[in-house]
Amino acid sequence: MQREARLSASLTAILNDMGDWDPPPDVSPEQPVIPLHIGIPTPDLLPLDAMQDIANQVLQDRDPSTWAYGFGPGYLPLRTALAAHWSAKFGTTNDPDYFQITQGSSGALDMLGRSLLNPGDVVFMEYPCYMGTYRNFRALGAQIEFIRSDSSGIDVDHLRERVLALTSAGQVLKFVYTIAEFSNPTGARLSSAKRRALLELSSEFDLLVIDDAAYAELDFDTAPSSPSTDYPFLGRDASSHRVISVGSLSKTLATGLRIGWIHASPKWQQLFGQMRFAMGLNQFSVRLVSGFFASGAYARHVDQMKQHYYDRMTQLHDAVLKHCGDKVRVIEPLGGFYLWVQVPTDHVTVWKTAYKKGIHAIPGRNFRPELGAPEPPKDYLRLAYPFTPIADFDEAGRRLNAAIVDAMK
Ligand code: PMP
Repeated sequence: MQREARLSASLTAILNDMGDWDPPPDVSPEQPVIPLHIGIPTPDLLPLDAMQDIANQVLQDRDPSTWAYGFGPGYLPLRTALAAHWSAKFGTTNDPDYFQITQGSSGALDMLGRSLLNPGDVVFMEYPCYMGTYRNFRALGAQIEFIRSDSSGIDVDHLRERVLALTSAGQVLKFVYTIAEFSNPTGARLSSAKRRALLELSSEFDLLVIDDAAYAELDFDTAPSSPSTDYPFLGRDASSHRVISVGSLSKTLATGLRIGWIHASPKWQQLFGQMRFAMGLNQFSVRLVSGFFASGAYARHVDQMKQHYYDRMTQLHDAVLKHCGDKVRVIEPLGGFYLWVQVPTDHVTVWKTAYKKGIHAIPGRNFRPELGAPEPPKDYLRLAYPFTPIADFDEAGRRLNAAIVDAMK
């Protein structure tokens, strides 16, 4: 089969498997749909040749440990490589004991939740929020307290108010969950001032911060004053024991590898390790990724992805503005995978009409869990740019405009 034909067959399979992000059930599209709902790396940039060489090497090595359970915090060469990479990039410690390898960052969040939460404990979550984490913590019995956020991240004043109120009410406050770098769904990055305020609050109330760094490497800064000075990685000083970060290679490399990590002080890692029930990770996948780091290819790959996603973001952003700039508001994100587009009328109607006209977006209400959010992030659509062919972006902008015009009738 030709590479293109193979790719499009497998893309169809991926699209059909995105149950969480279903299209409107009662709407039939008038033409083939442009998928703007998918937050996974474009298949065009998968480093398959390099992976094939590494896979061959792993097979040749015939190391029995590749074919066995992988107990403990994870393969040391990969933890060492992660520590060196994050230390160079974000000034974290380069001690591998600060890293534990997990089954994606969702595996990391699940492990954290199971280690830390008792039913009824309060978890603060910024909203709009990433629904996967919300569902996970809810399933573990947490009481979710939603904290407003805007284009500069979580509202730390609102958080302080709620911390004070719930402390006086005698509640057990477990942690704050935030996506400091390039939120899913809004693309927002926590501002420097709010970073300082959040860390101060965390120290004042001895409140743990869980920083979901799934997109943290994908910043669009190209200026010499790099983000590591203005925007230190929230978990940089994990030795304070108050910030735990979770991350992933899903967004920079490939979602199917299922490799993520927890960055935290060894004190926490020990606790999480005790909760580990699965007998380690897929060791073949771990060795593939480890080999990719060891060859120096990972850092180069991420640089290439950043540039590529920046180009994609600007092209989708420009297409949206070109066709419906008089009707929508959208802030250019500084990194990550998503445009958070404010539409001028009921967003569910726009979402449905857009699907009919041939674009699959995600309605803002999906990032508003059913319980407790003080105000729903209505009137927004999330458009994801990392996956869909760039050639379709202009047409997507045109269809979005047509959908808004129809929805406003
Ligand atoms: N956190 C955030 C913010 C995400 O957007 C995602 C994936 N959409 C995840 C965690 C989970 O990713 P994975 O388990 O593939 O690492």
